[in-house]
Amino acid sequence: MKTDVAVIGTGLSALAAARTIQQSGRQVVLVWPGLSSLYFLFATVDVIGYPTATSTEPVADPAEAVARLITREPTHPYARAGIDAVHASTRLMLEWFKEAGLAWEGALNRNFLLPTATGTPKPCCLAPASMTAGDLSRPEPIVLCGFTGYRDFAPELAASNLERQWGAAAVSAVRVTAPGYGPDRLFTSVDLARSFEDATFRDAVAAELRERVGDGVRIGVPGVLGLTRPNETFAAFQRAVGHPIFEIPTVPPSVIAPRLFDRLRKHLQEAGIEIIWAAPGHAAEVTDGRCRSILLKAAGHELPVEAAAYVVALEDWVDGAFRAGVHTVRDPFFHQPIAWNKVPTDRTAESLFSTQPFEQVGYALTDRLQPADENGKPLARNVFCAGGAMAGYDPTGTKSRGGMAIATGYRAAQEALAA
Ligand SMILES: Cc1cc2nc3c(=O)[nH]c(=O)nc-3n(C[C@H](O)[C@H](O)[C@H](O)COP(=O)(O)OP(=O)(O)OC[C@H]3O[C@@H](n4cnc5c(N)ncnc54)[C@H](O)[C@@H]3O)c2cc1C
Repeated sequence: MKTDVAVIGTGLSALAAARTIQQSGRQVVLVWPGLSSLYFLFATVDVIGYPTATSTEPVADPAEAVARLITREPTHPYARAGIDAVHASTRLMLEWFKEAGLAWEGALNRNFLLPTATGTPKPCCLAPASMTAGDLSRPEPIVLCGFTGYRDFAPELAASNLERQWGAAAVSAVRVTAPGYGPDRLFTSVDLARSFEDATFRDAVAAELRERVGDGVRIGVPGVLGLTRPNETFAAFQRAVGHPIFEIPTVPPSVIAPRLFDRLRKHLQEAGIEIIWAAPGHAAEVTDGRCRSILLKAAGHELPVEAAAYVVALEDWVDGAFRAGVHTVRDPFFHQPIAWNKVPTDRTAESLFSTQPFEQVGYALTDRLQPADENGKPLARNVFCAGGAMAGYDPTGTKSRGGMAIATGYRAAQEALAA
């Protein structure tokens, strides 16, 4: 298999890279080894939620906060991607969502503060339009609505947490019984999402909800308003209830994230991009400082992908891209040691809630996002890194993984096109 640029990975960074290359008119192949963390997302793109890992005050203006971060930490992935890539990648994704028929909102100069399923406020930059009426900068009281027998969203718990943490207006909880569902049936978000696409079902739930809530409130429901036709399902339900509605992503499997990524994947395919399925990469063939091919493990055989340039868009630990031995952690392509610990448990902190040292493990990079050796020399001149697999930063506390993924995906794609 031969192409101009091969993008390895299926996360946000790989999608941003593939779209950038597609728009340039060059040929791109996407290596899609399996599920990425995209299917488990809260389903927003978080550019920067908190200025530092320990701050508790959410960022109001992400563009300004990223610019400050770049000045403060010149080797941070945002600094390597550059502020122009942060702006360009945000534009790229919003335009893409629109073209693919996905209703999304957001801008780099403001964050939404949206409630999670446990009632904590979460700052995020880009979000599905079906979620944004939950923004806690709005003054209306909130009613959180659950469904009898549905286990992935407890409105009473979320309402009590949210009222305590938000405190700007009243938050209350209500449970309605959806037709055909009840405490004696085991069902998931996917079942409900399918049922909500049926007008009779939807109108029956709306009628019960209308009876149970007062005037002037907005209503938060778990993210189950449609699976394959979310825009029209959401609009019809909101009309029938007669109140502003917002969806809240539930614990995985939430349907909001798969809605997004299934649509983007199909949109790439509709544009003619070749996708290689279920084939993880396991080696890079490098001669004279250039990567000649990446070898994939396909069913029953090995598949080499030859490209002029490569974007390696791996996450780090979530999907097990790196191979951790007793003392050494190696990458899956160059088989370089990227971390060494005399005591292996030094990679983890005892408390689940502490900053985890393993989050910092990843490829060392050049200023052009090329994976580098310990002397800063590129492992291959035509390979560029995007997404979570970068050394020396932990986006968990700052809530910046999504923005970092799209900015580095965009910048790595630009470098690959120039290579
Ligand atoms: C539960 C959960 C919720 C999250 N919620 C949010 C959120 O709401 N907003 C947000 O901005 N971020 C969120 N994140 C962070 C999220 O991971 C990133 O935003 C984003 O998906 C990262 O994209 P990525 O491309 O860096 O990595 P990923 O999405 O993890 O993609 C990495 C890719 O590398 C591939 N890969 C691994 N090994 C190989 C190999 N050997 N060969 C080929 N491919 C390989 C994997 O299959 C995968 O496709 C969440 C993460 C988790 C775990």
